[in-house]
Amino acid sequence: MNRGKLYVVSAPSGCGKGTILAEILKNNQNLFYSVSATTRSPREGEIDGVDYYFIAKEEFEREIENSGMLEYAEFCGNFYGTPKKKVIDKLEQGIDVILEIETIGAMKIKKAMNDAILIFILPPSVSELRRRLNKRGTEEHEIIEKRLKEAADEIKRACDYDYIMMNDELGKAIEDFEAILTASKLTNENNKNMIEEVLKNA
Ligand code: ADP
Ligand code: 5GP
Repeated sequence: MNRGKLYVVSAPSGCGKGTILAEILKNNQNLFYSVSATTRSPREGEIDGVDYYFIAKEEFEREIENSGMLEYAEFCGNFYGTPKKKVIDKLEQGIDVILEIETIGAMKIKKAMNDAILIFILPPSVSELRRRLNKRGTEEHEIIEKRLKEAADEIKRACDYDYIMMNDELGKAIEDFEAILTASKLTNENNKNMIEEVLKNA
């Protein structure tokens, strides 16, 4: 059995990665979305264990000490990390896994797991990003400005990703994301056995 594929998705806050992934996960029941741990407070409507594991800083630090995190990073004053065990278990069971994480954590994954597939989602512009963050209305003005400042640095790191796509028109972005998933399955590395299969009956 082949190991599952590890997809790492990053995008500036407010770009629409959550919106795109919700749709992708609806259409791909076999994909496992890794729920991260964070020290930030839940937004209205967010559910513990579904959107994040909301934990205190002390617990987060304990997890790091116990090597329980596959990666972690600080983002705009809060810690975010990927619980290791579930991700490794799923990959070993041949199940594909999606991590939705910021760029520092993504680079840590790229270094540690060289077969991970990194996807960066760009916004059409920084002004559109500001418009989306304001429209979402889940953060105070000051936090939105902090996130927008962070966005410029994150966008610069997009060149280290395997795939770069834009979330301008949502339907097209979902199609592009599906296309990346499909293409990543059709590599030479993945399909060498197909050649032998075909030649067997030649
Ligand atoms: P992220 O998960 O990247 O922080 P969200 O998925 O929460 O971003 O999206 C931020 C806001 O932008 C939401 O209000 C969402 O409805 C909106 N949005 C997402 N994609 C688009 C799009 N293609 N065009 C316009 N608005 C969008
Ligand atoms: P938000 O507070 O908007 O939910 O997330 C802020 C940023 O943290 C986003 O870029 C999101 O992708 C990132 N993030 C979420 N979970 C993780 C994680 O487990 N590890 C890392 N490194 N970043 C994460």
